[in-house]
Amino acid sequence: MRPIKQIHGDKAPHWVGDGFFVKTLINHLDDHPDFNYSHTDPFLLFDYGEPTTFSPNPDYQTQPHGVGQHPHKGFETVTIAYSGEISHADSTGGRGDILEGGVQWMTAGRGILHEEFHSEAFGQRGGVFSMVQLWVNLPSANKLTDPKYQSIKRVDMPIIELMDDSGAGSQDTVAKGADKQTAIGQVAIIAGDWHGVTGAATTFTPINLWDIELHTMGTTTLQIPSTHNTLLLVQEGTLLVNGVSVSAGRLIQFAAPTSVYNQPMPLSDDATDTIELTCLATTDENAPIKLLLLSGQPIGEPVAGYGPFVMNTQEELRQTFRDYQTGNFGK
Ligand code: MN
Repeated sequence: MRPIKQIHGDKAPHWVGDGFFVKTLINHLDDHPDFNYSHTDPFLLFDYGEPTTFSPNPDYQTQPHGVGQHPHKGFETVTIAYSGEISHADSTGGRGDILEGGVQWMTAGRGILHEEFHSEAFGQRGGVFSMVQLWVNLPSANKLTDPKYQSIKRVDMPIIELMDDSGAGSQDTVAKGADKQTAIGQVAIIAGDWHGVTGAATTFTPINLWDIELHTMGTTTLQIPSTHNTLLLVQEGTLLVNGVSVSAGRLIQFAAPTSVYNQPMPLSDDATDTIELTCLATTDENAPIKLLLLSGQPIGEPVAGYGPFVMNTQEELRQTFRDYQTGNFGK
């Protein structure tokens, strides 16, 4: 079992533009000795917008809620729309909507300018808005790759049932003489690998991004590579993680990957650690426990980041600012 290193407390939310009310749960600029980029690599930044109600916006056409044009370079932004919809438009003429349940995996690569607003339909009707934006670093070899989008709908994601392996249902199982287990929830594989099932998104480095729901009492076991930095956000509900009670708003930081940091010889690539999730009571049908698991192979390269630019060296960062000021950004 991968031990829990720390359970991070709830964070105060802040506005990004006037459309996104988020808690920054990971920030590569933080230099705390026990929680800094070396513990989250390849994840640079993680903003969670918990469910927030927006009134209808009668001025949508002139003043949509969101963030106007801004640049990104050297990494990827991953936007998950849990509730509500986001419209994006970029400097290459690309535009589209991230619909409820969908994910936009945007590779900024050598540079992109874009804007992110509530969609027109959501802006005009209002309602509950909830999203995640995750920044995933690119290795130096891919920092200047061509910008691209992966627009992933919920139906594109493999959905796997999470089976109860607590043995709680064993009386039934024995009585029926069957090996049938109970599903206590499900996981949508946005990216990564689940026992050979490949997630919807293509990534530059090995990453798992799993959207998890638990609805029925029982225990299920996740397997994650022992080489990955691993984090788990509890978005809704309370559960036991490796036997420890954790409630909504908390980010669980698991112990450093043993095979990268603590052992002289790397373990084999397929060595796995386990994480045990226990749902203590069957939930209301429409209010499952919600979790987002992030794990990734550390890139292990130096980071020189400022605002929306994340490069490897200060000189690359200075050049990026010069290019931005002289109109050569992304060229
Ligand atoms: Mn952006």
